[in-house]
Amino acid sequence: MAPKIVGIDAGSPAARAGVRPGETLLAIDGTPVRDVLDYKFYGYDAHLALRLAAEDGTEREVPVKKREGEDIGLVFETYLMDKMKRCSNGCVFCFIDQLPKGMRETLYVKDDDARLSFLMGNYISLTNLSEADVQRILKMHISPVNVSVQTTNPELRVKMLRNRRAGEALKILGRFAEGGITMNCQLVVCEGMNDGDELRRSLSDLEKLYPAVNSISVVPFGMTRHREGLYPLQPTTAGGAANIIDIVEAFAAHCMEAYGTRLAWGGDELYIKAGRPLPDVDYYEDFTQFENGIGMMSLFMDEFRTALPGYEGRGARPFTIATGTAAAPFLAQLLDEASPSCHNLEASRVISIRNDFFGEGVSVAGLITGQDLVRQLRGRALGERVLISANMLRDGGDVFLDDMTPGQVGEALGVPLVPVEIDGADLLRKIFES
Ligand code: SF4
Repeated sequence: MAPKIVGIDAGSPAARAGVRPGETLLAIDGTPVRDVLDYKFYGYDAHLALRLAAEDGTEREVPVKKREGEDIGLVFETYLMDKMKRCSNGCVFCFIDQLPKGMRETLYVKDDDARLSFLMGNYISLTNLSEADVQRILKMHISPVNVSVQTTNPELRVKMLRNRRAGEALKILGRFAEGGITMNCQLVVCEGMNDGDELRRSLSDLEKLYPAVNSISVVPFGMTRHREGLYPLQPTTAGGAANIIDIVEAFAAHCMEAYGTRLAWGGDELYIKAGRPLPDVDYYEDFTQFENGIGMMSLFMDEFRTALPGYEGRGARPFTIATGTAAAPFLAQLLDEASPSCHNLEASRVISIRNDFFGEGVSVAGLITGQDLVRQLRGRALGERVLISANMLRDGGDVFLDDMTPGQVGEALGVPLVPVEIDGADLLRKIFES
């Protein structure tokens, strides 16, 4: 269905051209527009002709002049301008299946949409791509695409994704590579399933698609305490994490010698679980899969240390940092390092928050809820404010995963919450802000 225009950005090319809300965008330069990809792809040029239909069905053509690549300025009912493609898998490790009941509905949505991969960086499994979808990606050169591969063993992939098409869908990786599509791949590793020789095989198969395969992240599966009735998986052990790191690092060393890039990186969580030191910041090259927890902590620490000389001799108003059990020791270490040159930065200001909501196996700061903060911080000496990671809050910063607001948590604790970006320099800024 052609997308309906619900608004026009003020001062945009569409506003100057006289496009009206309520009209429907039928085509750009004669090509029908089905969704956001068509809109962005066919709307790239500097001179366009928009075919529009009014609510009474009458059609008109409107010329639009703009800079090449500039957005036309139309606002549609939904971002995709189309229905989102849902996931057709039943992955044994799926985090969404492990959410407790009663959370807000949007958290249970399982998307698997190539358009969101290209536009927002979401990972796709390739299992629900039709031949027409594949052709379109190749034709429009939608790149890069983030792919959840998990394993390149077709039978094992069928078992892990619990989808008959999962093995066959791996062939799309080769077609994308031939078509010049860049892919950032992810391997979620479940100990005893796709680790060991299976992991070696996956890395080696993906290497054959280099440079189309541009990066590979290897991360442990996240296990909550809400797994009743699900496939029996064990949490990643310290030994298992160490073995995964050894395999990934050996492969990365080989790739460095062969191609001048490591190509694959283990997630921060693996190093923390294994009790191994995190690699230096340079190890992560371009931080291609930063959002996936690859090199996040090393970069954060580097940013903090780089910015620290600018705060020498300064004193901070009393504060507390509340973070997940994984990040807490690193933040305490940073304060300890900063303490000799600044005042009031004792490491004891960092409080590690246990994740009671999802279970202790979930250690990342981004999954801490408002109620865990309140239960574990209430009654403690917190100073004048509590610094939290901004990624505990939904985009827009208004609520935690359990729908508590920062205002409600702050009120329960008697001090305001201050969100800090995943940026070591921002932590220093927030610590010293007056
Ligand atoms: S692809 Fe797998 S992990 Fe992702 S949402 Fe679907 S079932 Fe869950």
